[in-house]
Amino acid sequence: MIPYGHQSIDVGDIRAVAGVLKSDWLTQGPKVAEFEKALAKYCGAKFAVAVSSGTAALHLAYLVAGIGKGDEVITSPNTFVATTNMMLAVGAKPVFCDIRKDTYNIDETKIENLITPRTKAIVPVHFAGHPCEMDEILKIAKRNKLVVIEDACHALGAKYKNKKIGSLSDMTVFSFHPVKSITTGEGGAVVTNNREYYKKMILLRSHGITKDKNGFNIMTELGYNYRLTDIQAALGSSQLKKLEEFIYQRSQIAKEYKKELAGMEEIILPTEHPDVKSSWHLYVIRVKDEKDRQPLGNYLKERGIGINFHYPCVYKHLYYQKLRLARVKCPQAEQYSQTSLTIPLYPKMTGSERKKIIGALKDYFR
Ligand SMILES: *Cc1c(COP(=O)(O)O)cnc(C)c1O
Repeated sequence: MIPYGHQSIDVGDIRAVAGVLKSDWLTQGPKVAEFEKALAKYCGAKFAVAVSSGTAALHLAYLVAGIGKGDEVITSPNTFVATTNMMLAVGAKPVFCDIRKDTYNIDETKIENLITPRTKAIVPVHFAGHPCEMDEILKIAKRNKLVVIEDACHALGAKYKNKKIGSLSDMTVFSFHPVKSITTGEGGAVVTNNREYYKKMILLRSHGITKDKNGFNIMTELGYNYRLTDIQAALGSSQLKKLEEFIYQRSQIAKEYKKELAGMEEIILPTEHPDVKSSWHLYVIRVKDEKDRQPLGNYLKERGIGINFHYPCVYKHLYYQKLRLARVKCPQAEQYSQTSLTIPLYPKMTGSERKKIIGALKDYFR
């Protein structure tokens, strides 16, 4: 089976991890600090806090932004549930904004209508690695005094108007799950230019414990154990050195798909705006006829091609329906979720795998 996404691990990565295993220090230590420094530098941000997952990173970002009980947060329904689960975890209410027809990202023109006195933040999700319309979103946030936290779990290495994702807003969240741009097995990070946010996240990552001036442990906040290990961080630093190459390979495969599939009338291919550089986390095609989606998916699976659905609208999940979060209506997102299909895209795909996928898509409609 060709998976829809896969990590790329080489001998350099293995050597970096083995080096830590032979050392005295396994949990959060010098390798984590090194990884954070390299990540912040790469993104063009002042600080990075590495944690145990992208979900943990979202949780800490929401906490230090002061998002809590009764607050509302505007986000896209076209995302992984972790984005909004962590809003619920801090007691806040996700408010779903419909998506754009072209990029499947939050429709920035619909955000302002959803703002109420309880709105605290906007959480744009750079779906599939294509950056959202950040200039507009940052303007809306400024006008309404809202925090912007980017869920950039798909978008490490992407650029918006020549600026790296991670350098634009109050906080930006990344994931290092194996299917993402780079991996640490499990892992995540928040990057920020705000020293107060940074200091608080460092504290909350490790139980809210710090040392007083005599070197004694004192607990000053309710924290967690969201530490990344040095084993993982060594892998992260090694992977980060190859990120540009990974993204180049992904964009080359996207180019090939576009060239080979452009003539097919039955499907819609993803777009890339001229002022952005996508990190091409996912390659999502859409069928024009909703009825084709399931049989096409089955047809590809039977031929050993791993497909996926990114994403069903978050508010359609059973748990979210039970929450009765007002009557959410995001017609674009719903139509999108009925017609989208993710086909394989990862740096190490071979030429024959790509041919097989392209051939199978053409055969289905023939
Ligand atoms: C992967 C992902 C997350 C969660 O990251 P984990 O590291 O798996 O916890 C959150 N949001 C989005 C959009 C993701 O794709």
